[in-house]
Amino acid sequence: MSHQLSFFDSPPANEVQEGNVDQTTRAERISKISWSYSRRAVMEKCLRNYYYEYYGGNKRTATQEANKQLISQLKQLKNRYARTGEILHLVISTYLRKAKQGIIWDENRLVSWAKDLFSKDISFSQSSIGNWKPTNEKYSPSMLSEFYYQDPTALSKCLFSQDRLVAAIASFMNDPLYSEFRQKGSQGNSTIEGFIKIRPHTPCLVDGRVDLAYIEDSKVTIVDWKLGNEDGIGDDSLQLAAYGLWAVESLKCRAESIRICKVHFSSQKIVNFECNSQVLHLARARIMQDAERMAFLEGYGKNACVEAFTPCKQTAICQQCSFLAICDDSKEITYA
Ligand code: SF4
Repeated sequence: MSHQLSFFDSPPANEVQEGNVDQTTRAERISKISWSYSRRAVMEKCLRNYYYEYYGGNKRTATQEANKQLISQLKQLKNRYARTGEILHLVISTYLRKAKQGIIWDENRLVSWAKDLFSKDISFSQSSIGNWKPTNEKYSPSMLSEFYYQDPTALSKCLFSQDRLVAAIASFMNDPLYSEFRQKGSQGNSTIEGFIKIRPHTPCLVDGRVDLAYIEDSKVTIVDWKLGNEDGIGDDSLQLAAYGLWAVESLKCRAESIRICKVHFSSQKIVNFECNSQVLHLARARIMQDAERMAFLEGYGKNACVEAFTPCKQTAICQQCSFLAICDDSKEITYA
């Protein structure tokens, strides 16, 4: 029987360059891929960004990369959306964990903690322009990309984001819409910021994190916090379906007994995602396609073949990109 070669059978770059076709099969390469929604989102957005994020700036891979130090440094920049989202998740998860122990942190305490964290990021970023060196200290302030790239409106943009963060925390604490999540999330059997590492009948590993999950009357509820506005389920459907795969795999429940909610604090809306066997089946198919593509790119990434990763050169995307300083293809674009 003849073997039909497909695009994905192409050997990785190291095999081509060294004239040394190793015997690693396509299936083995895919099995080593760790798929996550955030990884696939970067790959979809810009392949060059994907290279910087997963190879160029990674200590253990692409060792020939000449700009490794700068790329690793840029990788640690955070924009205001990412950082305030991170703080929101930290504050909510801390509230729920403490509540589980019978300790209730009030709104003032949570808000002042969040404001303090983000204010420290802002002052650190302002004082570090031009001389920032990342540290490995666990709780060191973040360098905000708006300041790193000297956006003249950096401060007002960040203060606006801070207000949105404060409003989201107040809403989480007071809005009756979220009382179920506050209450059930504080109970003993809830999962708070639970890490996903599963192989849900997929050849690759599926990685991620569930913000909140709990079981009641054989029904599993999974909650995803979003600082931004309600924008429909859109492309996030794959992320939500991945949570469903996790619940089926780890909690041994039926797809139809899972309720997945996306909470949008800015618009104070809860969007429900319908989960069923068909949706999960399709999600597996999409994850497998992504994993094939990731496996194909792996050899080029590990060998620092940056040219194999097409830059998106889309102004709106580049203007928010942490790697603007290193990306030759977008030199004329300024951060905004
Ligand atoms: S600056 Fe633009 S093209 Fe370059 S890596 Fe970033 S998003 Fe991609």
